[in-house]
Amino acid sequence: MTTERMEFKTEVKELLDLMIHSLYSHKEVFLRELISNASDAIDRARYESLTNGDVLEGDGGWKIKIIPDKEAGTLTISDNGIGMNHDEIIESLGTIAHSGTKEFLAALQKQEVKDNPELIGQFGVGFYSSFMVADRITVLSRRAGSKDKKGVKWESAGDGTFTVEETEKETKGTDVILHLRDDEKQYLGQWEIRSVVKKYSDFIEHPIVMDVEKEVDSELKKGEKVKVREEETLNSMKALWLKDRSEVTQEEYNDFYKHISHDFHPPAKVVHYRAEGTSEFASLLFIPSLAPANMLYKDFKYGPMLYVKRVRIMDHCEDLMPQYLRFVRGVVDSSDLPLNVSREILQNNRQVDIIKNSVTRKVLDTFEEMKEKEYDDYLKIYGEFGRVLKEGIHFDLTRREVIADLLLFSSTRSEGGKLRTLKDYVDGMKEGQEEIYYIVGSSLSDASNSPYLEAFRKKDYEVLIMTDDIDDFIFSGFEYKGKRMQSITRGDVSLDKDGAAEKEEAKKKYSKLIDLIKETLSDEVKDVRLSGRLTDTVCCLVADEGDLDPTMERLLKSMGQEIPPIKRILEINPDHPLFAAMNGIFEKDETGSQLKDYIQLLYDQALVLEGSKPKDPSSFSKAIAKLMVENAEGAR
Ligand code: ADP
Repeated sequence: MTTERMEFKTEVKELLDLMIHSLYSHKEVFLRELISNASDAIDRARYESLTNGDVLEGDGGWKIKIIPDKEAGTLTISDNGIGMNHDEIIESLGTIAHSGTKEFLAALQKQEVKDNPELIGQFGVGFYSSFMVADRITVLSRRAGSKDKKGVKWESAGDGTFTVEETEKETKGTDVILHLRDDEKQYLGQWEIRSVVKKYSDFIEHPIVMDVEKEVDSELKKGEKVKVREEETLNSMKALWLKDRSEVTQEEYNDFYKHISHDFHPPAKVVHYRAEGTSEFASLLFIPSLAPANMLYKDFKYGPMLYVKRVRIMDHCEDLMPQYLRFVRGVVDSSDLPLNVSREILQNNRQVDIIKNSVTRKVLDTFEEMKEKEYDDYLKIYGEFGRVLKEGIHFDLTRREVIADLLLFSSTRSEGGKLRTLKDYVDGMKEGQEEIYYIVGSSLSDASNSPYLEAFRKKDYEVLIMTDDIDDFIFSGFEYKGKRMQSITRGDVSLDKDGAAEKEEAKKKYSKLIDLIKETLSDEVKDVRLSGRLTDTVCCLVADEGDLDPTMERLLKSMGQEIPPIKRILEINPDHPLFAAMNGIFEKDETGSQLKDYIQLLYDQALVLEGSKPKDPSSFSKAIAKLMVENAEGAR
């Protein structure tokens, strides 16, 4: 039999080094991690046994056994789950860095853990945390259902290498044997083990057992006590989600959340309920307090864990949660789905639809309740998840109004930074106002200073200020309570209904000049027209109805997306004296170079106002300088 010696992957080495030399608090979490692994291994075996009876090896009595051996100084955690073969053990316990490892190292780099050593208790640091208490670890494992009894023995002293060799193993599953350090022998004590299991692993749904010595009445001699060894189950085992809400403490919820999410911050909210009737299921969901870093990535895995009649079927069931709630974590346990449920069945299943509808409604209700009753907490999670929640406006047509009511906006009326809802907006609409106005900007200050806002400010029309990349895409054309949302940088906005006659008159008066401007700028703009949205500014560029918003265009370009050039509309303020002056020049000499310069400058100003550069900065500057000189000479 040969023994192979191998090196740990670099990240694993780093982690081991830390475990052994730097971390001294909450060492007892190693037991939670080993039990969690054992429980996962049993879940996998149980699931596989549904289609392959061999995995059972005649023994379906799943359990995790803890065996303290004071003489040998070892603590063994033994399970009869799926086990590992030669290749799997090398991969799992040596060469692959797991999610927990990466997050832990990342947090260390951010100093979160070093500064707060108590945090280690909250991390899913996995198998390697055992090196905090053991100077050598031996793992014996055999894949369940393997024909021979050949297993594999893995061993390491946490010094950068490990060995692997073949071994005989009678029972399926895995034994993790910790050779405890001299100063960590307290983990051999019954009381210590019992309390650590109770604290961190009580909700594990498989029995965690230990042989304990008990004193019982002697059957031989009356009145005398004798010692016996009995296997005792240490955890209450009832799956947390099947318990009644009143039976579960916040701490248990938090521990369970950490167990399933690897997130070390406690959840912001727990949604725990059970449904009966057309569909029977239990659901325990969590709204995290912080958004996961990869939430906006395409391959982000979401959806609750799916259990069917307490058998774990899959880790992320996307069919049970709409994508705009992809940050929600948790468990759904259905009594109606078949145990051999496949992806195809899930996609066209009435029960699945019922559950998805129900959990969606519950989560949205929870948000609504928080918004009403715990506004400050709501603000925090809205800051984390509002961007994603908004996607529902576009994708969930049946609930878009419900979602719309959860949204918060900055606006020209947010006093002291207080955010506004769409309802606030509609309630405060001026008489005769028919649309909900918004502006999209790359930042709050950028958008709030936009010249496009001036007429709205003057007329006291509220404008919502949006800064998320998807805002324009989500809201353009959306109707809230019968009021259409309208970007103030797009389409034709007319604020002054009474001024319609005046506008008609101005149109007639200036039509020739406008035609000339249109002709002169035909390469740059789509159209030239009189504006209903300007008061102090002479002109601005707006997007045509249905075209991409200019802010969006700039944003997409900055993200490296290729956007075909989109021509805009130049709007001119008919009440501005410059325009009247230009008309004066026009009437005198419509082909002169001065008018051409003016038209070019008009367009360049519009570009500057929307945050772009003039087409040719150097001629722009020359033209301005020339005007300034003329003006100065005229004044002399
Ligand atoms: P994590 O549990 O976060 O994946 P660990 O370092 O704790 O990270 O475990 C690494 C991997 O080793 C597990 O994902 C699993 O594949 C395997 N493993 C650990 N313990 C057991 C066990 N008792 N039975 C079967 N496989 C196990």
